[in-house]
Amino acid sequence: MTDVHTREQRSRNMAAIRSANTKPEMRVRSALHVLGFRFRLHRKDLPGRPDIVLPKYRTAIFVHGCFWHCHQCKYGSVVPATRAEFWAAKRAGNVVRDRANAAALRRLGWRVIVLWECEVSTAEAAQAKVGRLRIAASHV
Ligand SMILES: [Zn+2]
Repeated sequence: MTDVHTREQRSRNMAAIRSANTKPEMRVRSALHVLGFRFRLHRKDLPGRPDIVLPKYRTAIFVHGCFWHCHQCKYGSVVPATRAEFWAAKRAGNVVRDRANAAALRRLGWRVIVLWECEVSTAEAAQAKVGRLRIAASHV
């Protein structure tokens, strides 16, 4: 997918994408809440500072923006027409860091779940997705 935006439009979009990043996370949080899970946010003492942590189930959840973390979906495959190399390097760096963080968490005995922005695009989708994770069942 080729990006046809001007540089100005692109930087506005990038800013919007960045600030919107918290919204999918909020949908996941409220879905977890509805299911009765207790969780902590952004625990700084864990690798990668997971977005959501379920201590009881030793499960860390990351809610990744498709563009920023190179999801294999239409949002993750957008190639900005301007400063393409800059964004590519930045995103590639994120992917490398994500893998290292997940590996470090697993070494510490944590289960790592990655949810993608496109999978939790609505409250209903987030609810369905989180419901299918069977977080509790996997640890019984
Ligand atoms: Zn995606």
